[in-house]
Amino acid sequence: STAPLREMHIAIVGMTGSGKSALAVRYITKRFISEYDSTLEDTYCRTDSLNGQPLMVWMMDTVEDSSRDDVRWIAWADIYLVVYDITSQLSLQYAEGILERIQRHEHLLCAREHKLILVGNKNDLERYRQVSEAEGEAVAVKHKSQFAELSAAGDIRPLSQLLHATFQENPPRSCA
Ligand code: GDP
Ligand code: MG
Repeated sequence: STAPLREMHIAIVGMTGSGKSALAVRYITKRFISEYDSTLEDTYCRTDSLNGQPLMVWMMDTVEDSSRDDVRWIAWADIYLVVYDITSQLSLQYAEGILERIQRHEHLLCAREHKLILVGNKNDLERYRQVSEAEGEAVAVKHKSQFAELSAAGDIRPLSQLLHATFQENPPRSCA
C-alpha cells in the first residue's frame, strides 16, 4: 500500500544539565554517552512502528537561549518532553516554567492534540536527590502532564512506554 509515512515530533526541553541530550541519544541510539556539547542543538530521527505501520520519530534536542525561542519548538512538536534533574530543585522550577510557557502558546498548536510529558531524570543519583517523586508528580498533575522518573544512564523503558502510549492515543495529524 502507499499509506503516507506518519511522523511524530518530540521536543526535549529543560534546564541545561538536566540530561536532555543524554535522553535523546539514549532513546534514539539505545546508548548512554556521557559528554555532549551543551551549546549544540540537534534533531535526531529513528523509525518505529505503530500497529504494523512505519512511524518516523523525530526528536529535537533543544538548547534554549531565551524564551523568544519558544515559538520555534512549540509550533514544531506534537509531544513536549520536559526534563528536570531530581538532584536539582531549581531544574524542577525551570521545568514548571516551561510547562506554563507551552500553555501560554496554545494558539500555536492549531488545535492539534498535543501531549506533555514531565520527566524526572537522573534517579540513579538517589544520594543527591533534592526532588521527591511525589513533588515531581504533583507538578505534572497540576499541568495536565504525564510523568515518569528514570535515568538516562539506566532503564528508559518508562519513557518508551509513555511515548508509545501517546503515539497510540494521538495519531499524528497535519496542521492546516
Ligand atoms: P543537557 O544540557 O540537558 O543536554 O544535559 P546533558 O545530556 O548534557 O547531561 C548533563 C550531564 O548530566 C552530563 O554530564 C551527563 O552525563 C549527565 N547525565 C545525564 N543524564 C544522566 C543520568 O540519568 N544519570 C546520571 N548519573 N548522569 C546523567
Ligand atoms: Mg544538551
